[in-house]
Amino acid sequence: MAEQYTAIVVGTGFASTFFLHRLLDGLDSNSRVLVLEAGKRHPHRWQLNHPNALSKIARQTFINRTPKKPWVVERAFGGGSNCWWACTPRLLPNDFRLQSTYGVARDWPVSYDALEASYCDAEALMDVAGPSDDSPFPRSRPYPLPPHTMSDPDQLLKRAFPHSFFAQPTARPSRAVANKRPRCCNSGVCHLCPIDSKFTIENSMRHVYEDPRVSLEFDALVQRVDIQNGVATGVEFVRDGRAHRVRGDLVALGASAIFNPHILLNSGFSEHALGRNLHEQTSIKANVLLDGVDNFQGSTSITGHGYMLYDGPHRKDRPAILIETWNVPRLRDERGKWRQLIKLMCIIEEYPNEQSRVTVAKEDPTRPAVSFAGRGQDTAKAVAALKTELPKLMSKLPIEDVVIANSFKETDAHVLGTAAMGDDPASSVVDRHLIHHQVRNLMVLGGSAFPTSSPANPTLTIAALSLWAANHLNHSRAGDTT
Ligand SMILES: Cc1cc2nc3c(=O)[nH]c(=O)nc-3n(C[C@H](O)[C@H](O)[C@H](O)COP(=O)(O)OP(=O)(O)OC[C@H]3O[C@@H](n4cnc5c(N)ncnc54)[C@H](O)[C@@H]3O)c2cc1C
Ligand code: SF4
Repeated sequence: MAEQYTAIVVGTGFASTFFLHRLLDGLDSNSRVLVLEAGKRHPHRWQLNHPNALSKIARQTFINRTPKKPWVVERAFGGGSNCWWACTPRLLPNDFRLQSTYGVARDWPVSYDALEASYCDAEALMDVAGPSDDSPFPRSRPYPLPPHTMSDPDQLLKRAFPHSFFAQPTARPSRAVANKRPRCCNSGVCHLCPIDSKFTIENSMRHVYEDPRVSLEFDALVQRVDIQNGVATGVEFVRDGRAHRVRGDLVALGASAIFNPHILLNSGFSEHALGRNLHEQTSIKANVLLDGVDNFQGSTSITGHGYMLYDGPHRKDRPAILIETWNVPRLRDERGKWRQLIKLMCIIEEYPNEQSRVTVAKEDPTRPAVSFAGRGQDTAKAVAALKTELPKLMSKLPIEDVVIANSFKETDAHVLGTAAMGDDPASSVVDRHLIHHQVRNLMVLGGSAFPTSSPANPTLTIAALSLWAANHLNHSRAGDTT
């Protein structure tokens, strides 16, 4: 008879690793956790020697029915931590209550205040550098590391918008983190940081997988969760073309918003919300041509965050926009003005659309099929607002012109929705603790649980939600139901 595990965790990205980190705090020494990872472990040195290998592997893992809209995931130990840029804003309190505050989209079943301690814990585990005393969101603890130095144009923006422009919080460290990572040196190719400075699961959280209670299996592609009488009893995975079954008291899926719904659909779940509302933010680049001010003195790849077009009553009429100032040098093609440029990335919140979906591919049920129904009218309203408002905002600086790109960035590589959290099982898949509404020993972690995107990068929130969900389990096991 197969071994019965205390828990089976699927995937080794942010969602699974932060969950497991906290879950282990609540398990005794006899507990056994099995982690099933579909990819392999590729050390940092290997990745540097094979720079495009992981994205090539990932492209084969699902079928994109609307290839004009790419989606990016990574299939390997550590998931997207291998290639992310480590921008780590929190969501704003109003991002969790869009419907009740502005009458648009939907509310999350969890509030900012409820998640705040988990945000702090996630930032501590990632050694986030950020502005503790001057932050757009309420904080109960300082950031672990001081913020990165702002560039000269960032400092002008700070002077012009003291309450809505901030140093960007990031898991690219502003000073060396003992026994983990060197200080970020702003080489600006963060998808594969040459000096292994940005946070990855491999460089900062591999201890989770070295715990004697944890067994980690690679090349284990989970296909379905076994359900009997409303209880998850284990999972089926495929390796080398053969199916294997393992049994567990708890199953936690952390396979991302493309693969979590695929596994659930393959398992026979058919809730209306499952697989629907696949979404991510939409980004537009803009160049601000400065007049007599040089840029690129900052100390990391992205240095500033502008909240001028983010939260406020305008959200009744159009989605929020977060502005990043980029410090990866690019020169103007004009003598004497080489560095007189600010590169902006304007990230627009996207409201989910039910028609954008993950399904099981009919031609190959081992893979998900992904289709995108296009960006909504609300995004167009935000773009129109950006075109009107950005030049006005930037006119507070000495500038020659503001040039906003005519097309969207193809993808932000943030995959969200598809197994949303909510209080109502009719319109969501998991509850506020990421527990499946019907199968109460099945958890669905990660960006699939996001009911809305906000314009903020999602991964810190994914990590915080995993810690919050594991905290809840640990308290429930200990008999504390508060
Ligand atoms: C280039 C790039 C830059 C980014 N920059 C940022 C940033 O600056 N800030 C930010 O917030 N976010 C960023 N992101 C997004 C970020 O990477 C994701 O939000 C994050 O990785 C999601 O974490 P996750 O654990 O939910 O999923 P993942 O990290 O995708 O992990 C999923 C894991 O599950 C495994 N898996 C998948 N299917 C199966 C299966 N069937 N069986 C077993 N295992 C499976 C995968 O191999 C992987 O290990 C970036 C992404 C990219 C691609
Ligand atoms: S800016 Fe450079 S050193 Fe810093 S994380 Fe990115 S690639 Fe690494």
